[in-house]
Amino acid sequence: MEKIVILTGAGLSAESGLGTFRDEGGLWAQHRIEDVATPEGFQRNPRLVMDFYNARREQAAQAQLNAAHKALARLQKEFPGEVIIVTQNVDGLHEKAGSAVIHMHGALDGALCAACDHRWQAPLRMAPGDACPKCNAPAARPDIVWFGEIPYHMEEIAAHLAGCTLFVAIGTSGQVYPAAGFVQEALMHGAQTVEINLNATDVSGAFQTHLIGPASQEVTRWVENLLN
Ligand code: NAD
Ligand code: ZN
Repeated sequence: MEKIVILTGAGLSAESGLGTFRDEGGLWAQHRIEDVATPEGFQRNPRLVMDFYNARREQAAQAQLNAAHKALARLQKEFPGEVIIVTQNVDGLHEKAGSAVIHMHGALDGALCAACDHRWQAPLRMAPGDACPKCNAPAARPDIVWFGEIPYHMEEIAAHLAGCTLFVAIGTSGQVYPAAGFVQEALMHGAQTVEINLNATDVSGAFQTHLIGPASQEVTRWVENLLN
């Protein structure tokens, strides 16, 4: 049976108005990664980090799906084989489209207790020192995987990569590991590989096929071809 593993990144949601990581002028460009996306940054200035993610949570909640999210949801529903979507995105747009996804970098709508690892639905606005509903420690944090932390579900993802016949990376720069190494794992197990992006990336050389253009067009066309 055919098994497709799809890795998505910030480029998939760019046309929904959510800035990518390295976009100029975007939410990310106004902050240093070390300040807003590391455990050390959170320790230094929890207020800044909470406000940053509060703003992103609000923005994501208002964002509209684009055609690429919808096409991937359709593929998952209609493809006669298995379709696994692994996302680095934290915006929740895959779910809004009706897809089942593996969130390797967490999600904006999640809260995590740094004291006991309990997880719950994040309120729209989180504040430093918010209490954990389970252990009551003032240790709430966004359930987001920061730089220097280990992404979620890595064993499950490795198993999917080992069994896939086709690996597709969409809108991801290939600069953030371990996700950037997934294509090599898939190749090692004999999978075909496709990259969909606006331009070449740091790992383009590892892909056999390149579809260059905006995700809303390229993903939609690719899904239509696969289903026909
Ligand atoms: P990245 O910003 O490093 O790279 C984005 C990639 O998308 C680039 O290669 C760019 O060429 C491509 N791209 C931009 N617009 C596109 C479009 N319309 N169609 C196709 N491709 C397009 O993003 P990354 O590789 O996902 O890594 C960034 C990290 O930041 C991730 O860990 C993620 O958790 C986080 N992040 C998430 C979001 C989100 O959830 N929407 C947004 C920004 C950053
Ligand atoms: Zn707790």
